[in-house]
Amino acid sequence: MPTATISKTIEFDMGHRVPNHKSKCKNIHGHRYRVEVGVLGPITLTPHASDEGMVLDFGDLKEIMMNEVHDQFDHGFMMYAKDPFAEDFRKFQRQGQKIIFVPFIPTAENIAMHIFTLLKPKIKKPLEISFVKVWETPNSAARYP
Ligand SMILES: [Zn+2]
Repeated sequence: MPTATISKTIEFDMGHRVPNHKSKCKNIHGHRYRVEVGVLGPITLTPHASDEGMVLDFGDLKEIMMNEVHDQFDHGFMMYAKDPFAEDFRKFQRQGQKIIFVPFIPTAENIAMHIFTLLKPKIKKPLEISFVKVWETPNSAARYP
């Protein structure tokens, strides 16, 4: 059975900081993140099926990414749970601010790995996620794996 990799890209706005960074990334700041997810699988051969000739409907992949990634992170602030400022941000969270605490330093590399983990259970066999690529700026990206 022929296989192919398809991909979909979405964007969202989010704040973060890299606590131990030697330079400007330790400041509280934000990015327009861009996320591309690749899905590998067999091309459906079922005659007259809605997805005949496809690995996965682009619209279905987009819906998963919007629900599991965009809606979770957009206009939020991602905070390392062990950041020295974490307690201050817990106060903001109690006052209704969208603070996303994570057990890792929120670099593009770690965010890509995190999104891979979030999406993995949503992509059913025989399909699988082949990669997640996260752009922090138009020129800087990390890909996992
Ligand atoms: Zn940054």
